[in-house]
Amino acid sequence: MDYTKYGLKPDDEIKNIFREINSIFNLWCKKCYKKYKTDIEPECERLNEILGEENSKIKGWTGIDFLCNNHHTAEKLIELGVNSFDSIGIIACGLGVQFVSEKFPDKRIFALCDSIPQSGNSTSPEGFHGVSLSKEKCAACSQCYLNLTGGICPIVNCSKSLLNGPCGGVKNGKCEVNPDIPCAWEDIYNRLKKQNKLFCSEIQVRDFNRFNFDEKKKYSEISLSKRQEGFYGGVHPLDSKENTSRARILNFPEPPYVLIFISQHTGSLSKPIVKEGDTVKMGQKIAESTGVISSTIHSSISGRVVKIEEKIHPTLQKPIPAIIIENNGKNTMDESIKPVDFEGLSKENIIEILKEKGIVGLGGAMFPTYVKFLFEVSKKSIETLIVNGCECEPYLNTDNRIMIEYPEKILKGIKVLQKIANPKNTIIGIEDNKKEAIEILQKYSSSDITVLSLRTKYPQGAEKMLIKRLTGKNVPEGGLPIEVGSIVINVGTALAIYKAIFEGIPLIDRVITVSGDGVGKDGNFIVKIGTPLKNILDFYLGMHNKNIFEEYNIFMGGPMMGILQKNLDSAVIKGTGGFTILKKYPVESKEERECIKCGRCVSVCPVELLPLNYVYYGERQMWEETKNYRVKNCIECGSCNYICSSKIDILSFIKRAKGKCL
Ligand code: SF4
Ligand code: SF4
Ligand code: SF4
Repeated sequence: MDYTKYGLKPDDEIKNIFREINSIFNLWCKKCYKKYKTDIEPECERLNEILGEENSKIKGWTGIDFLCNNHHTAEKLIELGVNSFDSIGIIACGLGVQFVSEKFPDKRIFALCDSIPQSGNSTSPEGFHGVSLSKEKCAACSQCYLNLTGGICPIVNCSKSLLNGPCGGVKNGKCEVNPDIPCAWEDIYNRLKKQNKLFCSEIQVRDFNRFNFDEKKKYSEISLSKRQEGFYGGVHPLDSKENTSRARILNFPEPPYVLIFISQHTGSLSKPIVKEGDTVKMGQKIAESTGVISSTIHSSISGRVVKIEEKIHPTLQKPIPAIIIENNGKNTMDESIKPVDFEGLSKENIIEILKEKGIVGLGGAMFPTYVKFLFEVSKKSIETLIVNGCECEPYLNTDNRIMIEYPEKILKGIKVLQKIANPKNTIIGIEDNKKEAIEILQKYSSSDITVLSLRTKYPQGAEKMLIKRLTGKNVPEGGLPIEVGSIVINVGTALAIYKAIFEGIPLIDRVITVSGDGVGKDGNFIVKIGTPLKNILDFYLGMHNKNIFEEYNIFMGGPMMGILQKNLDSAVIKGTGGFTILKKYPVESKEERECIKCGRCVSVCPVELLPLNYVYYGERQMWEETKNYRVKNCIECGSCNYICSSKIDILSFIKRAKGKCL
């Protein structure tokens, strides 16, 4: 596959360019839409052949992936110090030339290639090349004019696409056809003046009657602003939330036993403090935290501990001890469960209660909440307390429904957090596909809490993306939100905090969504922590059996970031937002799935990585190389997988790369 977009200019033209200059640094775009290779472009080799001894004027070369992608290229150009060279030669389509010319307007930038039309042998109806959707355009006219015009293309920027200078209608520097835009030819004149050059060309006759550049520009600019709205990249998967968005939260049938893993949180495993044969009450502590980052765990039912044995953990996917408790059906409450007087509590008392009640982040990360406030808040003052109500994963309505059904409890939970963190601002961010939740929270919120409706875009619910969206700040690589003055709490965690403080109840149950592609009983339920997956499947599908994993993909969470379950002994943990159960429709494909270097994965990666490299080096088992492409920063959002033109499972390469080299 090679959807080649440019080829070197004719030999004479190249030789003329090199006659004009003393030294040059060449940048070559590694091309989009072609089979991924790391070799040098054939155009670079041919340039050396044409130049012969003159190639001593080339003082350096470098290849760049997606030269026209401002996000990735701007920094790289500064790193390379290209501005210190007399001139810069570009081996790329017109888009790459225009991009670099705009970055260095007073430097001589030479287009060494002509773009190859996408169809036919005249100007392309598609209108532009490249993947950047930047405001520079290339019409792939196959006769690049940019060396004469200082890197500004008159074909796409001049309303009349004039090639021999401005028409007589320019007024105050504005175009007579569209007074909102500057005259392209004035821009060209000014750019050339900066470079001490004059425009000089013979008249060229071209046929442009199939173009409507205004429309194309508009489309391109809308796409660009949407792509960068809030944070770079992201995708818009079908949200598939309609099955459960209106379903009231119900109590899930009481399980006959629960299977409570001693890892219900990020950090070290908890230590069981009960043994086989013990009777336990609902809410009784059964495991205590160990180490700095850990959490306490409580029984979610009353009954008898029948076993403590290793089972496959639903997210870690490895054996972890689980406390198995047989349900006596009485739900006898532990004596420790009693509300406290909130007003009389100090900040330290509250943090201690959050620790004792085993509160962890319910958005999925399961980070112990007391640790977040004990250590992070003491380091720096909090500018913004962000309450995350985005729930951007398809199918899930857990957070949506609790915002609709328990707004006052959530807001009281937020008040508790405000008392500990003393933030300057408190913002609840909710995606605009949850209109009812937005209206209800706006109605109940006090004046010190702002409820913001955010345009739906996946993965906006990821902590770093939400911070960027709401504060415009980037959490540094490997850093914590506190470093940019923010702290993020999920709405579900705020509800758990309310229950811990005002009702004295530890984190022993949570709301989950059980949904899928219409094959079962979709709904939103309060489930006891430790409820086995078997019971969920029995309820949803009316059955479970050994072969169920062959017929269905069962995700803990949603289909984008959810963890595929392979074991009936799996169970609800504190971070379970739901189960998505999708029937498998296997498609046989004999074709090899090769990366065509379309750049879509690059365009959508919200942490600005180059995911195609994980495929390239992963296929070659060169895992160490993936470190150079910052694989550890990947948040495993799955956007690249979702968008990949070749349907490559990029995420599986990422997970293996992390396992091999981190
Ligand atoms: S003259 Fe303009 S439209 Fe034609 S190839 Fe060059 S940049 Fe593209
Ligand atoms: S899974 Fe990783 S590499 Fe892929 S888009 Fe998400 S953050 Fe980027
Ligand atoms: S989206 Fe897929 S095919 Fe396109 S560049 Fe990325 S890995 Fe390659």
